[in-house]
Amino acid sequence: MKIAIIGAGAMGCLYGGKLSAVQGNQVFLLDIWQEHVNAINRYGLFMEEQAEITNYNRLVAKTKASDVGVVDLAIVFVKSTLTEQAIRSNLFVFGPNTITLTLQNGMGNIDLICSVIGAKNVIAGTTAHGATMLGPGKMRHAGTGKTFIGELGGEISERVSQLAEIFNHANLETEISENVLGLVWDKLLINVGINALTAITKLQNGGLLAHQEIEAILEAAVTEGISVAKAKNISLSFADAVAHTKEIAAATGTNKSSMLQDVLNHRQTEIDMINGAIVREGKAVGILTPVNMVLTNLVHFIEKSG
Ligand code: NAD
Repeated sequence: MKIAIIGAGAMGCLYGGKLSAVQGNQVFLLDIWQEHVNAINRYGLFMEEQAEITNYNRLVAKTKASDVGVVDLAIVFVKSTLTEQAIRSNLFVFGPNTITLTLQNGMGNIDLICSVIGAKNVIAGTTAHGATMLGPGKMRHAGTGKTFIGELGGEISERVSQLAEIFNHANLETEISENVLGLVWDKLLINVGINALTAITKLQNGGLLAHQEIEAILEAAVTEGISVAKAKNISLSFADAVAHTKEIAAATGTNKSSMLQDVLNHRQTEIDMINGAIVREGKAVGILTPVNMVLTNLVHFIEKSG
């Protein structure tokens, strides 16, 4: 299968590297970071996993989609603030039969992708893996977890089954979901509870539970998100998404959330697609979300004052 990863940062390299190790796959990494692209083409990708380093040298990295051409599968892994721009600037990889998969965090990626290339060949999912960039051509696989993928309409199609098989073959444990939009919301609610609060307080994930006054904000933010999801008839997997978010915060206690890392590195965050999305979606269904509005504005203020 000819595969393009659009946005070959931490997660793109993780999936691209693993998929490239399977015989029969030809993987292209597309990224605008020239130094990173050069390093991969020269030395291969170095992936650190539990203190072991693997070199993936069957990958080809490019900055221009025209050098790659039409692929069978495009996996979108840019930050969600850049989704539309990245799809538009990599249009050469999309042919009439190209399947496009987003495993990004945040709300809105699916609609943005569909608005540019149409919905027919777009599928979505979530990933519980974690990864961090270490430098050009080098990244760390920081945490392992399941990948879920599915058709937007919920049907179990042949193409999704085939993709799940390819991912599993590449040691990316993958299940098919008939409720992928619900899964995207499940993941969104976790990020709603953890990301902005860690970015504002500079606490690690577990630290949010060590302070009652912060834990109360986490509960309120996720509770608003649940109300919005219910109003939109989204079927969530967890009876108590607040408790689930706290379990994840505890289980990833020493992690610095991606939004905290973005703030510490003076990078733009995904706040508008996470807590900001709850505010937008809430407005659309007539539900007030003041806690998420405050969190969104505070993170914007931090980004601005940098
Ligand atoms: P990242 O910043 O490491 O990688 C994004 C890459 O996209 C960068 O290398 C950047 O140069 C590239 N890029 C930007 N514009 C581009 C364009 N127009 N064309 C091609 N490439 C472009 O981000 P990440 O941590 O890999 O996260 C990607 C997505 O996955 C985000 O939505 C994030 O929330 C989600 N996610 C991340 C993790 C994690 O542990 N890192 C876990 C689960 C989900």
